[in-house]
Amino acid sequence: MENFDTLIIGGGPAGLMAAVRASSLGQKVAIAEKNHSLGEKLLISGRGRCNFTNAESDIDAFISRYGDNGKFLYSAFSRFGPLRTREWFSHIGVKYIEERGKRIFPEEGGSQRVLDALLMQCRKNGVKVMRSTPVKALKVKSGHIDRVITEGDEYTADKYIIATGGKSYPKTGSTGDGYEFARQAGHTITPLYPALVPIRTRETWPKLASGCDLRNVRLTVILDGKEIDDRFGEMEFTNFGISGPIVMELSSHVPDWEGELQFSLDLKPSLTHGILIERVKRDIAKHSGHGRFHGLVRSLVPAKMVSLILELSDIPHDKPVEYISEEEIFEFVKLLKDIRMNINGLWGWNNAMVTRGGVSLKEVDPSTMRSKLCDNLYFAGEVLDLNGPSGGFNLQVCWSTGYIAGSVNE
Ligand SMILES: Cc1cc2nc3c(=O)[nH]c(=O)nc-3n(C[C@H](O)[C@H](O)[C@H](O)COP(=O)(O)OP(=O)(O)OC[C@H]3O[C@@H](n4cnc5c(N)ncnc54)[C@H](O)[C@@H]3O)c2cc1C
Repeated sequence: MENFDTLIIGGGPAGLMAAVRASSLGQKVAIAEKNHSLGEKLLISGRGRCNFTNAESDIDAFISRYGDNGKFLYSAFSRFGPLRTREWFSHIGVKYIEERGKRIFPEEGGSQRVLDALLMQCRKNGVKVMRSTPVKALKVKSGHIDRVITEGDEYTADKYIIATGGKSYPKTGSTGDGYEFARQAGHTITPLYPALVPIRTRETWPKLASGCDLRNVRLTVILDGKEIDDRFGEMEFTNFGISGPIVMELSSHVPDWEGELQFSLDLKPSLTHGILIERVKRDIAKHSGHGRFHGLVRSLVPAKMVSLILELSDIPHDKPVEYISEEEIFEFVKLLKDIRMNINGLWGWNNAMVTRGGVSLKEVDPSTMRSKLCDNLYFAGEVLDLNGPSGGFNLQVCWSTGYIAGSVNE
């Protein structure tokens, strides 16, 4: 039975970072990866461009993006935070650029460049990469991992790191196995939900505007008739509901909102009702005698939204604009500023970028990532109960916790 100093289960970003760190400290390290290739999810991150961290320099602001659980990251960030991550990647050959929203991407080569750089470090440091090696179980004996069982073999190590990711995009290999391993070691798994995922609406009309990208719109969350949250930015309609950055961000909170949940879309958040009414009246006056309602709609919303607005409005499509009444103008403006949708739930794991929930942080030491229940077990990455919005926040969890888990404790 082969023995290692550190055995890492899972060759995604967190596992690779842990492997590079441990091997750079002279450890004999192995990665057991169930797929033939490593980092499959990393390769599709940021649509293959890999938004690998964020340049937000205020650490409190950075950490607040993970919600209450973010506090767990203070210790890891003080040793290997976002700035150090950028410098470290730069040092191993991944030069970076900053884009809108302080998102950091490799200057060239995208996700492949990040993966190649990590694999190169593993090779240089002699990490044993065991591909097509699914771990089946951990043998646990009185608070200690005794060995790891794969399909045909068993391995022992002084230290084991679970870096198996979450449950989202299972075709990349992240099928939630790590939660089972953690349970075998006595850990609690907090409830798991798909997060950063499109949202389903009860209404079927979103498909009329499917593929329409909306910018500078506001989505307000209404729970049991009360406005409780909102987001400003970009979203899109899909065949089954809504998607896009502000929708994905809100999706992570949907499981908390029990009750009658509605979203209200304001297509013109920078204009008050009054100003928008004036604008519509001006348009009507300009086209009086030769304009129809559908033309007025076209002048106010993106082309792909026209059919949807015509469907939702009570005004006949070909009504001459000069016959549109004051009351109809009022109702039309109300519609542009409050398109109401009843929320039916989230899309499933196949479409979620991350998992909300995971190994309970109460049972993990934040300064080492060591289990408080098993003396030689560590965790890194998405398997932990940590998730953030899009913008490089989720990969940053992998780099920071992977680095700490791979470190040798003094
Ligand atoms: C489409 C998409 C785009 C994304 N874009 C971004 C982005 O731009 N920026 C960002 O910050 N985040 C992004 N994310 C999230 C980010 O990719 C994940 O948070 C990150 O990959 C998690 O890394 P991980 O190492 O914890 O787990 P994973 O990347 O899931 O890796 C886990 C590895 O463990 C292996 N494994 C699982 N079970 C076993 C087992 N039993 N035995 C052996 N191996 C096993 C898996 O095969 C896998 O290789 C995106 C996610 C998706 C789905």
